[in-house]
Amino acid sequence: MNCEELVTYLSEYIDQNLDDELRADAQEHLASCHNCRVVLDTTQKTISIYRQTGRQSIPTVRRQALRDRLQAAFDQRDCPPK
Ligand SMILES: [Zn+2]
Repeated sequence: MNCEELVTYLSEYIDQNLDDELRADAQEHLASCHNCRVVLDTTQKTISIYRQTGRQSIPTVRRQALRDRLQAAFDQRDCPPK
C-alpha cells in the first residue's frame, strides 16, 4: 500500500470497515510511514470532535472535504515512488 491508497481507505480504516487483508496492509504502511500516522491521528481527532458534538458520523460532504484536504497535504510533499 502507498500513501495515496492509504488516504483512499482512511475513513474505512477508522470506521473498521476494511477487510482483514486491507487493514493489515494499512497497518503495515502506517508502521513505516510517519506522514500517514500524522494524517490518521488528525483525522481521528476530527472524527472524535464530531462524535463529541453528538453526531453519529461525519456527513458525506464533510468527509469529502476532509479527504480533499488530506489529498492536498499529500500532493504538497514528497511521496515515495509507487
Ligand atoms: Zn504514507
